[in-house]
Amino acid sequence: MTSGDFLPLCVPSLGDAERDLLLACIDDNFVSSAGPNVGRFEADFASYVGVPHAVATTTGTAALHLAMCGLDIGPGDLVAVSDFTFIASANAVSYVGADVLLVDSESRSWNMDTQLLHDHVVDLARRGERLPKAIEVVHVLGNPADAEPLLDLRDRFDIALIEDAAEALGARFGPGRLADRSVGSVGNLGAFSFNGNKIMTTGGGGMVTTHDQQLADRIRHLTTQAKESGDTYSHDEVGFNYRMTNVAAALGLAQLGRLDDLIERKRRIAAIYDAVLEPELAGRPPASEFGDPTYWLYTITVAPHLRDVLLSDLRAADIGARAVWPPLRSQPPYRNAPCLGGGVGQAVFDSAVSVPSSVDLQDHEVERVAQTVNRILTDAIGS
Ligand SMILES: *Cc1c(COP(=O)(O)O)cnc(C)c1O
Repeated sequence: MTSGDFLPLCVPSLGDAERDLLLACIDDNFVSSAGPNVGRFEADFASYVGVPHAVATTTGTAALHLAMCGLDIGPGDLVAVSDFTFIASANAVSYVGADVLLVDSESRSWNMDTQLLHDHVVDLARRGERLPKAIEVVHVLGNPADAEPLLDLRDRFDIALIEDAAEALGARFGPGRLADRSVGSVGNLGAFSFNGNKIMTTGGGGMVTTHDQQLADRIRHLTTQAKESGDTYSHDEVGFNYRMTNVAAALGLAQLGRLDDLIERKRRIAAIYDAVLEPELAGRPPASEFGDPTYWLYTITVAPHLRDVLLSDLRAADIGARAVWPPLRSQPPYRNAPCLGGGVGQAVFDSAVSVPSSVDLQDHEVERVAQTVNRILTDAIGS
C-alpha cells in the first residue's frame, strides 16, 4: 500500500477497474471535460443516491460553492452551518459574501444540534428577526445528522436545506420518515467530495445532487463559465471553471462500481476496532440514532490529557492518526461569527483521535493498531 510499514490514516483503494477506465481515456484521447464519462458518472451517481439529477464538479468545495450560487445566496443572507466540520463547509458561504451562523453539535452523533437551531429559528420568527436563508448541515465522519427538525423549518419558513455529505456517501437515514433515504437526497441540494481521502475518489472531484431539474441545469451551466450552447463565446452570467474531467469521471465510475464493497469494508474495520479496543480506555465513535454510519474515519475518544500523547506515540509506532477539526468558531476566519450553543464540538475536538481507516488495510493491521492504542493508553495512565 505504501513504502515501509507506515499505516496512513486513509488512502484510496485503486485496482484493475480504475486502471482500465483510465487507460481508455488515453486511448480515446478524451482527457478534458469532453468524452462520455462525466455524463455516465452523473447518471449512475444520481441513481445510487436516489435523486433524479447530479452535477459533477472539480472538488467538493466547488460543489458547495455552486449550491450557494444555485440558491442565489449572497451578501446580506445568513446561512446556518455546522460548527464542528472541515472548514470548506463554511468557506462556501463566505465565497458568496453571505454570513454564517455556527451551530454547535449534539453529543449523540457529533453533528449539528438541529433541534437547538430549530428552536432558535422559531424564536427569531416570533420576534420578526432575520431568518437564515439556508441551512447547511454536515454529516460528519460518515454519520447522518438529525434532519427532521430542518425539514420542519423548510416546510414552515421556506428555509432551503443543503446537505454537506462530503464524508458520508452511502450512509442512510433511519428510522422515522426519512428511513432508508441516502444522505444527500433529502435537502434541496446535496454536495459530495471525491478527494483522495474520501470513501471513494476521483483524485479530486465533487458532485451536487438534487430533485430539482431547474436547479441542476443552472448549476451545470455555472460549472462551464455559464457558456451558452453552440460554438460562440456567449455567456449569460458569471460562471466558473468547475466541470469535472473525463479522466476524473473514469476513476469515479470505477470507484462507484465498487462503492458497496468499500462501505462494507469500512464497517468491517469499525467492527474490528470495536472488538479489540479496551472500552475503558477508548470511547467508541458515535453510531447515531439518525441513520446507518459508514465509519469513513473511525474516530475514538480518550481523556483529553491523553490525546496528544496518543497521537505522538502512534506516530512513533508508524501509525497515521489525527485529531479532528477544532470548532470553526475557534479559527481566525470565523472567530467573529455568531454562534449557537457551545462546548460539545470543543469537547469532541479535545478528546477525539481518528485512526487508520483505509479500506485496503488487512484485518491483522487493524488489530495491530487497536492493540497499540490499548498499550499506549495503558502505559500513559500507569505512568
Ligand atoms: C472534504 C470535505 C469538503 C471539501 O471537499 P474537497 O473535495 O476536498 O473540496 C467539504 N466538506 C466536508 C465536510 C469535507 O469533509
